[in-house]
Amino acid sequence: MNYYEVAILKSPLSFLTYESREDLNIGDKVLVSLRNRKNLCDAVIIKEVEKPTFKCIEISECLPFYFDKKMIEIATFISQYYVCSLGEALSVFTPFKKQDESKEESAAFDSAIVLSKEQEEAYKFCEEKKQALLFANTGSGKTEIYIKTIEEILNKGANAILLMPEISLTPQMQNRLEKVFKKSVAIWHSKVSKKRKNEILEGIYNGEIKLIAGARSALFLPFKNLQLIIVDEEHDESYKSDSKPRYNAKDLSLYIAKKYDLRLILGSATASIGSFYKVPFYRLKKTFFETKKSIFFDDSSLELSPKIINKISNTLAHQNQVIVFLPTRANFKYQICTSCGKSVECPYCSVSMSLHKNDLALKCHYCGYTQQIPETCPSCHNGVIHNLRVGTAEIEEKLKELFPEKIVKRFDRDEIKTDAKLKSVLNDFNNNKIDILVGTQMLSKGHDYHNVKLAVVLGIDSVLNMNSYKSRERALSLLIQIAGRSGRKGEGEVIVQTQNQEFFDYYLNESDYEDFLNGELEFREGLYPPYVKMAKVLFAHTNGLKVKDEMDKYVKLLKQNKDIEVVGFGQSAIFKLANKYRYEIILRSSHIKALLTALHKIDSPMAAIDMDTNF
Ligand SMILES: [Zn+2]
Ligand SMILES: [Zn+2]
Repeated sequence: MNYYEVAILKSPLSFLTYESREDLNIGDKVLVSLRNRKNLCDAVIIKEVEKPTFKCIEISECLPFYFDKKMIEIATFISQYYVCSLGEALSVFTPFKKQDESKEESAAFDSAIVLSKEQEEAYKFCEEKKQALLFANTGSGKTEIYIKTIEEILNKGANAILLMPEISLTPQMQNRLEKVFKKSVAIWHSKVSKKRKNEILEGIYNGEIKLIAGARSALFLPFKNLQLIIVDEEHDESYKSDSKPRYNAKDLSLYIAKKYDLRLILGSATASIGSFYKVPFYRLKKTFFETKKSIFFDDSSLELSPKIINKISNTLAHQNQVIVFLPTRANFKYQICTSCGKSVECPYCSVSMSLHKNDLALKCHYCGYTQQIPETCPSCHNGVIHNLRVGTAEIEEKLKELFPEKIVKRFDRDEIKTDAKLKSVLNDFNNNKIDILVGTQMLSKGHDYHNVKLAVVLGIDSVLNMNSYKSRERALSLLIQIAGRSGRKGEGEVIVQTQNQEFFDYYLNESDYEDFLNGELEFREGLYPPYVKMAKVLFAHTNGLKVKDEMDKYVKLLKQNKDIEVVGFGQSAIFKLANKYRYEIILRSSHIKALLTALHKIDSPMAAIDMDTNF
C-alpha cells in the first residue's frame, strides 16, 4: 500500500493523508471521499509519505489529469503570498491531460507586419530585457509589436499567452489575431461557453492551439512550452481577483516570467506606478496618425451644461457621433468644493475622505478618522463642500429629452450583459445607427469608433476625489484612455467637465504621463505601494457584535507586532453586504516577510485576507 498527502481543491483544509494500491505521481488529480461530504472531492497528490499511525481512507479514483511541477510551484507561491491553502491556489489551474505525446506540427506564421523604426527599437528592447514594460502612447502601434513577438515565439514551436482585460477582448481584436494565427489562436474569458472551453482545452492538449488571448484566468491554462506572456493594459485593475485566491494576474506574470526565465511584455499607454518602478521600460511616443485633438474644459457643476449641450448639438448637426463617459454605472456620490473643486482630505493619510452615514460626516476608510462636513472648504475658505451624484441612466434620459430625434444608447454592465449584445451595439454604432453612446469604463477599452468626433467626460472629479491613494493615478489614466477614443482617424474633440482643470490640463497638454508617475512616486515614498506593502483583513458575519469583537481581538494582536503598522480599522465602506456586517483592518509594512507571517497567523472563519488590495 502507498500513502499520500493530498490537497483538496477549492478547500481551505491543509493536507490530508490517504492510501492507495496504485503507484501515483506527485500532481496527479484524484477523487477522494471526505467526512461530512456526500460527493467525492477533487484533490491533488502532493507528497508520498510513510505509513501513518492512524488509519486512512483509500483514494477513490485516479483521474487522467495532472498538475505539473511548475503549476505546483506557482500555486505554492500563491498560497504563501496571497494567503490561502494550496488546494485553493491549485484550483485556479486547468490541469494537463495524460495522453500520448501529440505530434507537434511545426508552425509557420507570417504576419507580414513591417515595423517602423521606433517600433523596431521598442521590439528589440523588449527582446533584450526579456521582461519589459512597453510604455506606449495610444496609437503608437504596440499591438503590432505584440503580434510580431508572438509570431517569433510561435514559429519556434513554443506557446504564448496574451492577457487582456475581459472588456478589451473585442471582436476586432479577435479578427486581428485570427488573421495572422488562424486556428492556432483562441479567445478565453468568463463569457465563453463551457462547450467552447472544452474544445479549446482539447486544442491545447493536442497542440493545435498555440496562443490564447484571454482574461486573467488564461494565465493558468496547461501549455507545455510557454515562452511568452504579454499583459496588455497592464494598469487595469481587473487583473486582481476579488475572490479567493485573491491573486493579481499581472504581478503573478512578472513572478512567473522571472522564475522560469520567460519573455514578458507589460503594455500600457498609462503604465501603472508599480510596473514603472519595478520593470525596465521603453517609451514609445510617436503615433501613426497625427490626430488633431482639441481638449476643452467645462467647470460648471451642472451635469449637462449649456457649453456641453452646445458642443454635442454641433457635432450631431455635422452627422458625427458622440460618446458620453461616466466613471461608474450606478449612482455614485462624492464630495467636492463648489468653488475650488478640491475635496476634504484625511489629515493622517493624504487621501480624500468619503461621505458617510446619510452624508452627515466624512470618513477616511484607511484610518477610520471621522469628522463633520466643514462649513466652508478648508482649501479655499470660500466654497462649500457638497455632494454630487452621477449616473448613466439619468444622463441617457436627459439626452433623449434634449435630442428627441437622435438615437441615444447606454453602454454599461447593466445594459450590455452578453457578448451578442456587445457586438450588436458596437455594430450599430459603427454603422451610424446610434448617434450618442453613454457609458462607463466599458467605453474606454480598446474599441474603435470610426465616426466619433466628440468625447464628453463627466464626473472625472468623482474618481479624483475618491478615498484612495490611487485616485490621481486612476483619474488621469482613465481620462487619457477615454480621450484616445475620440477622433482616432482625423480630428477629434474632447470636453472634460472638471473643477480640477489645472491638474488635468497640465498632464494632458503640457507635460507627460511619465512626469506624473515620477511625481506620484515621490508622494508615495514611505507611505504607499510600491514602497511598502499593504493588505486588508476583512471580517464579515451575520452577527454584528460577534464580528466586531473578532476584529477588535485581531487589532490588539496585530498592534503588538513591531514590524507592521495597523493603519486603521473599523466598519467597511459598505458596512452591510448580503446580510453580513463587515469590518476591516488595514495593514502596512516595508517588511514583507513579517507582514505575511502575521497574515498567515490570522485563523478566523470570519476573516478574508486581501494582499495588495485594490483600495
Ligand atoms: Zn474650495
Ligand atoms: Zn486617514
